Amino acid sequence: METLAITGGRVLHPDGRVTESDVLVDRESGTIEAIGPDLEGDETLDADGGLVMPGLVNAHTHVAMSLLRGYADDKELDAWLQEDIWPIEAELTPEDVEVGAELGVLEMIKSGTTTFADMYFHVDRIADVVDRAGVRARLGHGIVTVGKDEEDARADVEEGIEVATTLDGAADGRIRTAFMPHSLTTVIEELLAEGLELAAAHDVPVHLHANETEDEVEPIVDERGERPIEYAAELGALGDGNFFAHGVHLDDAEIGLLAETDTAVVHCPASNMKLASGIAPVQRLHDAGVTVGLGTDGPASNNDLDLFDEMRDAAMVGKLGADDASAVPAGDVVEMATAGGAEAVGLPGGRVEPGAAADLAVVDLDAPHLTPVHNVVSHLAYAARGSDVRHTVCDGDVLMRDREVTTLDAEAVKARAAEHAAALVDRVGE
Ligand SMILES: [Zn+2]
Repeated sequence: METLAITGGRVLHPDGRVTESDVLVDRESGTIEAIGPDLEGDETLDADGGLVMPGLVNAHTHVAMSLLRGYADDKELDAWLQEDIWPIEAELTPEDVEVGAELGVLEMIKSGTTTFADMYFHVDRIADVVDRAGVRARLGHGIVTVGKDEEDARADVEEGIEVATTLDGAADGRIRTAFMPHSLTTVIEELLAEGLELAAAHDVPVHLHANETEDEVEPIVDERGERPIEYAAELGALGDGNFFAHGVHLDDAEIGLLAETDTAVVHCPASNMKLASGIAPVQRLHDAGVTVGLGTDGPASNNDLDLFDEMRDAAMVGKLGADDASAVPAGDVVEMATAGGAEAVGLPGGRVEPGAAADLAVVDLDAPHLTPVHNVVSHLAYAARGSDVRHTVCDGDVLMRDREVTTLDAEAVKARAAEHAAALVDRVGE
């Protein structure tokens, strides 16, 4: 057994307890072997003055949109997509997507994220980056049929199924897939129903954007006389293993349906604030027993992939939305960014305990903004930053040691991304 010992630090346990312990990882199985005092391994990672916590789970993003970071801001969702994002996305080549994904994954490793769920296109290129970088992901092809003729629309649905069935289990099992219609309003009913039936036949989970803005809810209510989650239920889109992004505008009956069917919700507070989409009822979802994960959404509507930022945003806006300072407390947001996210996207990780996947982040607590340490969980939610992460480990492999990413050449990735982004903006301007 080849082992990795993470020594000298504190450990955040699944029940929120923090102890001074070492962590021993079995690198072959990629799992945690033991937690306790004085553990020794073939290789050592120094966690002195730090906290070993679960690797963070970014449960909803479009990672290749890192190339569009800062390209268009300060607009509502509809105008932002139609005037800026969709025209420039139409120019993205497979290589652009790969370069953007590398940049995004680099940023995630540097901020302690080991796992993400991603909806985009040219997914084979994103899968290649996941494989090389050593992270874990649930990937899918984002399907949009509006504005397409019948043939193109059908081809898009077919690609969604093709990606979900062929890439599943890639990168030594670190890649799993999902069927990912963009949303309930951007895929026509007939094709949505057909695709969902095929996904079920292939036993593939479903991920889509739902109830993100009022403008997305109203047309469904006007046309069908029912709420979006009721429509999704009729189509068979709800169920254990399926997870919906946003869930900003939900009524009690919809929250009840999500809870009854074990459909998870991924809260994306920064994107919801930036696009003025609204405040998701996270405390109500939690009280109803819905599994809630945390996502950054794409880096063009955030504008970063730092889940520490997202935890802070979730706690802050959750209190504002509930008009209650005790709502969405620190422990809950840390749970959402770790075990909740892992459960939502159906991937291992999210817990530091023997037998669990060795997906870990070591956070350096020796910083002015983290002093004194009265309560580690409070610091993770309110005071820590992605740049405080010292080491990142996924599936038993060290992806970042002392802030040096080991699987990607950070300088080359940044240079390539800047070059591709500039060429992209030139093309769209022509
Ligand atoms: Zn999204």
